[in-house]
Amino acid sequence: EHDPHTQRRVLLKLSGEAFGGGKVGLDPDVVRGIARQIAAGQRAGVQVAVVMGGGNFFRGVEMQQRGMERARADYMGMLGTVMNCLALQDFLEKEGVDTRVQTAITMGQVAEPYIPRRAIRHLEKGRVVIFGAGAGMPYFSTDTVSAQRALEIKCDNVLMSKHGVDGVYTADPRTDEDAVKLDHLTFTEALTGNLRVVDAAAFSLCMDNDLPMLVFGIDGEDAITRAIRGERIGTLVTS
Ligand code: UDP
Repeated sequence: EHDPHTQRRVLLKLSGEAFGGGKVGLDPDVVRGIARQIAAGQRAGVQVAVVMGGGNFFRGVEMQQRGMERARADYMGMLGTVMNCLALQDFLEKEGVDTRVQTAITMGQVAEPYIPRRAIRHLEKGRVVIFGAGAGMPYFSTDTVSAQRALEIKCDNVLMSKHGVDGVYTADPRTDEDAVKLDHLTFTEALTGNLRVVDAAAFSLCMDNDLPMLVFGIDGEDAITRAIRGERIGTLVTS
């Protein structure tokens, strides 16, 4: 069997947008597919922790633009991520994977509180740990939280899955036809180039702490499994 002390450990960021299949709410078929891919990666001997996004329910900034107070809207956004966590937990357990959900906003009936050392123990025991409610703080994003959790629970890599784009480009590929996909770049390049595919705060945390980040497209049959297993798909960002 796999030795828990030498196993690769990764932090996978999943966007809520992917879970919704392009709509508000959850598409169970999409979540089932993602759960299968995570299960396959985990069975290959990799410890997997997930930070769950919530863009399929609420994004604080968008609600603010429509008149809500930002902080309150952000709390709604964080609560949305927890619904995604429970859906992912359900489909992972159906795949035979043991899981624990830990949330940054305490809600004892549905999840454990975020306890980093306990999360590490779960991972060592072969459980997938799913982190919900972001950082528990308004004005943060789940991208930034992914970098923070990856650092705190000592992951080898942070895997930023993106919906509708398969890596980092020189410009926005949806609006600029001259945009070219990059296989590799440095955090400094990402920050100075203002490449917004991932938050600046996430790039900056990874840069300061030398944590390699893989930015890859979630679309396709097995992209998540491949990223978990350490394949160089997408774009690798390093110091
Ligand atoms: N959010 C927050 N603090 C956090 C993480 C998330 O306030 O630490 C809120 C914020 O409003 C955000 C929403 O939760 O818009 C959903 O998260 P995010 O937009 O990162 O999800 P994704 O785009 O990855 O689906």
